[in-house]
Order: sequence, then C-alpha cells, then structure tokens
Amino acid sequence: MSSEGIQAASPAGATVIAVDHLTKTYQLGEVEVHALRGVSLNVGTGEFVAIMGASGSGKSTFMNILGCLDKPSKGKYLLDNIDVSGLSRDELAHIRNNKIGFVFQGFNLLSRTSAIENVELPLLYGTTPSKVRKEKAIAALERVGLGDRVHHYPNQLSGGQQQRVAIARALVNDPSIVLADEPTGNLDSRTSVEVMDIFQQLNENGITVLLVTHEPDIAQFAKRQIVFRDGRVKADKFNANRKRAEEVLKDLPAIDEDEV
Ligand code: ADP
Ligand code: MG
Repeated sequence: MSSEGIQAASPAGATVIAVDHLTKTYQLGEVEVHALRGVSLNVGTGEFVAIMGASGSGKSTFMNILGCLDKPSKGKYLLDNIDVSGLSRDELAHIRNNKIGFVFQGFNLLSRTSAIENVELPLLYGTTPSKVRKEKAIAALERVGLGDRVHHYPNQLSGGQQQRVAIARALVNDPSIVLADEPTGNLDSRTSVEVMDIFQQLNENGITVLLVTHEPDIAQFAKRQIVFRDGRVKADKFNANRKRAEEVLKDLPAIDEDEV
C-alpha cells in the first residue's frame, strides 16, 4: 500500500464503470450531509468488487448512483462509456432495466406473489410475451438452484432461498452488472456463503459484480476490495487471498432447507 493507504486496482477488462470526482450532498433542512466527497474509480468487465466501510461511509449512496437509482450532486459517471448524467428519466430506466441487476439486503420480494411471479416482474415493463417471461423466470430460478421452488411464496422459503429468488429477479434481464447492497446482511453464516457461491458463479460466467458488505468474511470472496470512509475511497486493492465459496462450504455444517 502507498503511504496514504490507497492503491488503485486497475480494471481487469474493458471499463464498464468510470466515476470521476463523484460527490453527493443531501440537504436535510438546514443541514448539508456530505455522503460522497469525491470518489474516482474504474471498474472493468469481469471484476468482482467488495465495497466495505463503516455504516454511514457512503456505500449505499454510491451503489444507488451506480445503479441509476439516484444522481450525483457533482462529478461524472460513465456506464459503458455513456455519460449517465445526460440521460432522461426514461433512458435511465431503460439502462437500469437492461444492464443492471439489483440485489438488496431485505430481499424486497412481493409477499403475496410466488417466486416465479417475483422473478418475472422486471420483464413486465417490456414487451416480452407471457410465455417467454415464464420461461426466462424459470431459467433464472434454475440458475440460482431454485428450479424446484418456482411456485413457492416468500413465506414458504428460507431467508437464503428468498435472497436467491431476488438474485434470479436481478438476472432475468441478462444484466452485465449485478449490484448487491449488503445481500448477506440478513442471513446466517452458511447461507451467506451459499449466496456468495452464487455471486462467484455469476462472475465466472462474465457478470461484473459489485457488492457492499461490512463483513471481512464476505469480502474475502471478492477479487478486489474497496474501503470507503467518510464519503471517500480509503483503500482500493486486489484481494490476493481470495477464497472460493464452494470450498468454504465443504467445511461448514449443512442445513436442511426442507425443514423450513
Ligand atoms: P452506508 O451505506 O455506508 O451506511 P449511506 O450511503 O447510506 O452509508 O449514507 C451516507 C451518509 O448519507 C450518512 O450520513 C447518511 O445518514 C446520509 N444519507 C443517506 N441517504 C440520505 C438521504 N436520503 N437524505 C439525507 N441523508 C442521507
Ligand atoms: Mg448502506
């Protein structure tokens, strides 16, 4: 590491995400909250990045901007070489739907809606015929190992299974980037590693993954680790000791999910 504790990790492939002096300031009444104070970094295709840092350090703000759910106050964001700041709401929604899959800590599934219907949801905004929607949803559920749970409702699934439904929903539009904000935050340790196994498999199949976590045990599965502090990048380094979730799982006791 350099004297400042920052070591830029150069991207693996073509640059998919390029942010330059990104700032985000929230106005809370009289008070300005500086959530991001100038973040500059690039992410290349095929990277697997863990974004770490204490609560309040700006991780979610950063992810929401990357996912075009929010706009920066200042600075530049190029997604696949497109300057996102110049796009209309509709164009942003289109990019969000086609390039990016989102996974949240709380799963965000519709509770009175079966797994397959939850996964189909992002396709309802397009013109995909119903039959193709169902086929794509089933394929996405199979991809996360839930081919035998397609008609289950969220309350009939374990936390890990619900998060896998949410990952399938993020995948149904074939995104090139998956953004996950603390996806294992509500899961026990074995289930967390199972979810990380899925993210590693997706990454091996070419999807660029950016994942927020404050747990070092989870960040060890990433290829690159970026640490935020007070709205700035505090450290940025390759993870030389990356672990494979598949291997770690072999040493963890199994849980019988059919008991749920
Ligand atoms: P993290 O995800 O690292 O915990 P956040 O990005 O959620 O951090 O928040 C960074 C800072 O911005 C915090 O001080 C938080 O209170 C503030 N913040 C986040 N969202 C808002 C908002 N919508 N309005 C005002 N302040 C916000
Ligand atoms: Mg957060």
